Parts: sequence; C-alpha cells; structure tokens
Amino acid sequence: MTHVPSTSRAASLSLENTYADRLDGAYAEMDLAGAPDAKLVAFNEPLAAALGLDAPALEKEIADIVAGNVLAMGSRPIAMAYAGHQFGHLSPLLGDGRAVLLGEVVKPQGGRFDIHLKGSGRTPFSRGGDGRATLGPILREYLVSEAMFHLGIPTSRVLACVTTGDSVARETSLPGAVLARVAASHLRVGTFVLFAHRGEDEMVRRLVEFSLDRHYPGARSPNPALALLDAVIGAQAELIADWMRVGFVHGVMNTDNFTISGETIDYGPCAFMEAYDPQTVFSSIDRGGRYAYGNQPGIAMWNLARFAETLLPLIDEHEGRAVEKATACLETFRARYEEAFERAMRAKLGLAEARPEDIALITNLLTHAHSERLDFTNFFRELAESLRAESLRSEPSDDAPPVAAWRARVLAQDRSPAAIADAMDAVNPLYIARNAKVEEALAAAHDGDLGPFDTLLSLVRAPYAKQDVDASYTSPRESNVPYKTFCGT
Ligand code: AMP
Ligand code: MG
Repeated sequence: MTHVPSTSRAASLSLENTYADRLDGAYAEMDLAGAPDAKLVAFNEPLAAALGLDAPALEKEIADIVAGNVLAMGSRPIAMAYAGHQFGHLSPLLGDGRAVLLGEVVKPQGGRFDIHLKGSGRTPFSRGGDGRATLGPILREYLVSEAMFHLGIPTSRVLACVTTGDSVARETSLPGAVLARVAASHLRVGTFVLFAHRGEDEMVRRLVEFSLDRHYPGARSPNPALALLDAVIGAQAELIADWMRVGFVHGVMNTDNFTISGETIDYGPCAFMEAYDPQTVFSSIDRGGRYAYGNQPGIAMWNLARFAETLLPLIDEHEGRAVEKATACLETFRARYEEAFERAMRAKLGLAEARPEDIALITNLLTHAHSERLDFTNFFRELAESLRAESLRSEPSDDAPPVAAWRARVLAQDRSPAAIADAMDAVNPLYIARNAKVEEALAAAHDGDLGPFDTLLSLVRAPYAKQDVDASYTSPRESNVPYKTFCGT
C-alpha cells in the first residue's frame, strides 16, 4: 500500500463531527502520520453491517483508514482532552495519548457512534508515551469486547485491527498495530473533571448539553445537570451489575475510563474471573486491589461522586443546596445497583419471582462458591445441569446447604426442571474469553496463525449454546502462578 496524502478520501465511510463542532477547547486537531505498510488483520463484518455501512466496500478501505493513509469522508481527526483520577489521585490533564477520534457514524435507523483509533501515534497528550499499540493487546480488546457485547453488556466494539508494519519497543520488540473501535461516545467522567477542575463552568455546561443530546435526550428537565447525573447513575448501576453477573473485572476503573454513556470502554488489563473470589485482581499495577472484582460497585459510586462534584455549580447556585441535591441523587446508586444485580442473579438461578429472602439465598450461594473455589461461569451451568438430572434421581442429592435451599426453592416453581434449566442456560454463558485461551490465541496470532483467535471469537459470539470444541474452552486455567494483565502495553 502506498501512502496517500490525507486529502484523499475513503468513500465507504462517511463521518460527522458534532464533538469537534460543539466542544471547541476539548480536543486537539490531529494530522495522522499514516503507515504505508498497513495490513488488515481482522474486520468485524457484523458490526459494519449493524452500523448500516457497506461492509464489502469498507473492508477494502478500512486498513488505509485505520492506518491514517486516507481519511473517511467528512472526517476531522482529533485527540480528545480529559482529566482523570488514576487509582484515586487526580491527574488534571490526560487526554488521548495514543488515540484519535475520526468522527461519528450515524446509523440509517438512528444512533450516532464514535469511530476511534487506538495506537495511531503520538498526540499533544502523549506525555512520555510513544502513542503506539501492539498486536496482542489489540486483538485482546477485540476478543473481550466482542464477548461482552454477545453477553448483552453495553460496550465499545472493535471494527478492525490493522498491523502497521513497524515494530514497537516494549519489553521486546513487538509488531505495531492500530484498532478502530466504535462506541456510543467517548465522553467520560474525566472529560467533565478536566473543565470543572479549571473552574470552566461554561464548558461543563456545554458538556452537559452535549451529553444529554447524545445519550439521554428524554432526561433534560427541570435541571439538566441533575438530570444527567441521575441518568448516568442509572446507566452505570446497570452496567456494573452486568459486569458482576459475568465475572468481568475491568481492572482500571479510573474516572478517565468511566463513561457517561454507561458503556464499557478501555479494555486494558481486564479479564474474566474464574474461581469465584471477590478479591480477584488481574492487573499487575493494581497492587492494593482497588479495582478488585468485589470492589467494582463501590468504585463506581466513588467515580459517580467525582462526577457529581463537577456538576455542583450547575445543579444549584447555592452550594449547600447543590450538595444536598447531588447527594440525594448519588444515594440512589446503591439501591439501583442492587436491584439490577438481584434481577440478574435471579435469572441466572432460574427464579422467576422476586422474594425478600433472595438476597440471603444469593449471598449464601456465592459464599459457598467462594469457599469451594468454584469456577464462577461453570457454577451456574452445573446448577442447571443438576436440574436436568432431577427426574432421574432416586436418592436425595447430597447438596451443600445453600445449594439445597436453592434447589428446594427452584423446584417449588410451577415449571418443569428441564424448562428452568433451559431458561438458566439462556443467560449463563458456557463460553467466556477464558484467560488461558486468550493467551493461547494471542501467542498463535503473534506467530502468524489466526486459527485459535478465530475459534475463540466464534465461541464468545455464541456463548450460550454448546459447540463442538474440546474441554479446554470451558475449563479454568490450571496454573499456580496467578494470571497477570497489563495496561497500556
Ligand atoms: P489507560 O490506562 O489506557 O486508560 O491510559 C491512561 C492514559 O495514558 C491515557 O491518557 C492514555 O492516552 C495514555 N497512554 C497509555 N498508553 C500510551 C502510550 N503508549 N503512549 C501515549 N499515551 C499513552
Ligand atoms: Mg483510558
């Protein structure tokens, strides 16, 4: 591929730029350097089709678009500015250090989505970083975000992965790669923090308007800032419950990675928990376990409080009243999260109807899973399977007490055990992006074999139905060495 001056345009992708148009001061304009030897490694055809794009035409141009060799029609590339609390400490200016927003695609049936590059080179926000990404983490983001999407969890998705032909210096020299991802937006709590910290209330007000228009058009009145806070609290309560129900550990819930849309973004050190343990941490830099699996709801609440602080001058001109209103709103998070989590857990456990004793039942089952170090994913599939065996059982089962309590409750319902088991299997995945399989797939991809990657991708895209693969895809990792993940590599 030859380097084409960026005046040339790719006709298969047409973008708008409402963020750049409306939020002057919240970004830096970018000129993409380009990568003449770019090669397409993966293209998400179903996603392109879902966006209403001409997938075959886009597939021909996407490597050059992602590499920055050509620009999509209408695209005005920018690096977004934002701040963030990293492990609790405020960094007043972070921004896209290795990412670029190309623009927004508007679906024919409505809906606006950012097309964002990661690994596209240095920006004014790169600080000491090289602005680059490597093939392994980029394919990892594709796999894990696709798994999340197919588990019904709001998330950014990868449209394409491209190698640049350059090598990138990490612990060793690694193939450089760029991905294009699609998200409802990349507005984050950190975007608001940047301007609130500088006392730029007018800019925060514009962000509120922009966020409401983009994500919560029905939630405007009577107080826009409070309406936005309430909407984000609701969306995040649902999102965190979604993470918890599948054992997802995000790993770096800094306020710069915490969205206004309520989507999962920033797939760095994330991974799925295997043995159930609320203390599960994968990220090599999370030494204190701040972002452990079981801490995620509390951290979400902490991040939402930082968000609320940015909105105070807009919520009420009287500071005391503003704090009172914001606090009352924040206090709804816990009940909203618990309602969402219990609803998800009832579905996982085959319980059609809510009862006051549900919380104890769920807690006791999870305590049992913890003490027995049961695989969180398989636990629910095995409970369902045990219901199918129910009619064949001649003797009473020797369940642990929490499982016996669940069995008695579930069997007292007016449905056959097999029907309940089927309903459970429809919400409890058989296939997740298991850590050992992800590593295997990435190692093979590094050596030029995308076979294991494609197999794992097809499994996580149909996570509930049994497919013809060996048991390693449904088995936890067997190793005494804890699984470690890395950010920004
Ligand atoms: P993250 O933990 O991936 O959300 O990144 C935190 C901050 O570091 C963001 O501002 C990123 O843009 C920046 N960053 C991460 N990796 C790099 C890199 N290789 N070069 C420049 N900036 C980076
Ligand atoms: Mg980030």
